Amino acid sequence: MGSPADYHMHTPLCRHATGEPTEYAAHALAIGLTEIGFTDHSPMARDDFDDWRMRDDQLDEYVQKVQKARCDHPSLTIRLGLEVDYLPGHEDWIASLAARHPWDYFIGSVHYVSDSWAVDNPHKLSEWKHRDAWEVWSVYFDRLTRAADSGLFQIIGHADLPKKFGHRPARDCTLLYERFLAACQRTGTAIELNTAGLRKDCREIYPCPALLQAAYRLGVPITFGSDAHAVDEVGMNLPDAVELARSVGYEQCLRLNQRQAEMIAI
Ligand code: ZN
Ligand code: FE
Ligand code: FE
Ligand code: ZN
Repeated sequence: MGSPADYHMHTPLCRHATGEPTEYAAHALAIGLTEIGFTDHSPMARDDFDDWRMRDDQLDEYVQKVQKARCDHPSLTIRLGLEVDYLPGHEDWIASLAARHPWDYFIGSVHYVSDSWAVDNPHKLSEWKHRDAWEVWSVYFDRLTRAADSGLFQIIGHADLPKKFGHRPARDCTLLYERFLAACQRTGTAIELNTAGLRKDCREIYPCPALLQAAYRLGVPITFGSDAHAVDEVGMNLPDAVELARSVGYEQCLRLNQRQAEMIAI
């Protein structure tokens, strides 16, 4: 069985990634992938919200870049998606984004635990010094649960992102995981195995094996993603993610086309 699709990758429009989509696609073919999906950081309703995403007036350019990759590489299946930040109160904005292009899927990600702090922002690492890890994780998983419950997303991104720099609560997180996964189960939302964690301080795929095991028990579907922000990161460590998925029992993953889901063998 070949590698699964890589459903999470970025473009230079987000201002912290390098390489054009057509170059990502060429690399994907070179390493033997047959399907990829672009999911750059979506615009916010206000362009000055932060400085690590495309502006609203760049959304069409983003879609054109993905179209160019498709034209240049007809033998590769290329999905059109977005990684959309979930913050409470942003639901109407997200729904309006969904109506603007024929997206294959949205990855819903929680980076912000308040309007000003994204837990994975390396420039705001010192914020962790003033915070209690359990409180951060609780707020994070509360937002992630609301994201899954919203039904606005086909996939939830990097489900235990707060571990990125190694900040983990001493307390047991099982209830946080289970509440979140119950929301995924209710709405048929998938979670992704995101290999970027292996390249960060936590040195672990998102999510951890315990969360993934609970997801399998509840029948929550999965996808795979490298979260590539550079050409040579496309497809990175996907075989390790497949091994992890199989180790907890998964034999299938989700394929998405125009927001229609299909299960395929891994
Ligand atoms: Zn990014
Ligand atoms: Fe993200
Ligand atoms: Fe990403
Ligand atoms: Zn991401």
